[in-house]
Amino acid sequence: MKISDLVNKNLINFTPYQSARRIGGEGSVFVNANENPYYNKYSLKENIFNRYPDPQPKDLISSYSNFISIPAKNILVSRGSDDSIDLLIRSFCNYSIDSILYCPPTYDMYKITSLAYGISFKEIPLNDNFELNLSEMEKNLSKVKIVFICSPNNPTGSLINFNDIKYLLEITRNKCIVVIDEAYVEFTQREIFTQEIFNFDHLVVIRTLSKAFALAGIRCGFVITSEEIINILLKAMAPYPIPSPVIDIASQALSNIELMRKSVIKINNNKKFLIDNLKNLKIVDQVYSSFANFVLVKFRNFQEVFDYLWSNGIILRNQNLQVKSCLRITVGTDEENRIILNQLKEYEVKFFKGD
Ligand SMILES: *Cc1c(COP(=O)(O)O)cnc(C)c1O
Repeated sequence: MKISDLVNKNLINFTPYQSARRIGGEGSVFVNANENPYYNKYSLKENIFNRYPDPQPKDLISSYSNFISIPAKNILVSRGSDDSIDLLIRSFCNYSIDSILYCPPTYDMYKITSLAYGISFKEIPLNDNFELNLSEMEKNLSKVKIVFICSPNNPTGSLINFNDIKYLLEITRNKCIVVIDEAYVEFTQREIFTQEIFNFDHLVVIRTLSKAFALAGIRCGFVITSEEIINILLKAMAPYPIPSPVIDIASQALSNIELMRKSVIKINNNKKFLIDNLKNLKIVDQVYSSFANFVLVKFRNFQEVFDYLWSNGIILRNQNLQVKSCLRITVGTDEENRIILNQLKEYEVKFFKGD
């Protein structure tokens, strides 16, 4: 028997997540993974690692509990939101029986994770305003175990209407779990869903230190939900999921929330500058408003623009398969944004022959 005959059949025609690192590119301005350019430097406080870590580090959970004003018993630490998505699907969905439901255009990992486990998925696209199509969702809930909602949504940057999510939570009570992916929530002042876990015991909010906290490299995230769901997730989790150095650095980051807030203010200012200037370009058809640290932009010749910047070492994210003719640009430093805008202007002057 060949190895290729042994492999899980879900993986045979499987396209893995096209992560920024996997796509690669060479250059100086990487604005394709929604990373935060305003990093802090850390040193490890501990230097002895012979013992296993606490599976659910108490001090780290208590720092996050203070940050979000939710009791520690309602918080679980994970290896980032991708791990939380994986854990939720593994914990709630039965192979070849259950489905998940999500609303494209949205984050790819809901679909990819379900594919890897052979769990089917239902797609109910967002409407033209990037809002939920609640009536279609309501009609398609049978066999669904988890509904994934991303808000602020990646790649659109839009917020999903608060009352629509409330309504979704009402109609899914005693039917399925609703997961709200708040990876970008720190970039907006709008309503957040963490406090709603006390009104809806089937609500799960997932958070990460990868974006606003500028810690994508350590892989650390949080699941906020009812104690009952936390206990189920703990059953399926690896025995010692969070490495000691991660606990150490995450705790340091959470002891200085001001640093995160300052970088959010800078990024939101830079975002305004980027959006205002993008709107002045003739090659740009539309700039979508954004509640996150990236901007979705519709171009006249998205592929040529993408390739031109790529060959000049500026790596954007091509979102055409999700939102036609769109590229996604992570908000970078002041300098990075000027470089991007200069290159776009250069492309426009050289090649654009429109009106
Ligand atoms: C970046 C991102 C994630 C992944 O977060 P990690 O904690 O780095 O795994 C999850 N969801 C959304 C919507 C994201 O954009």
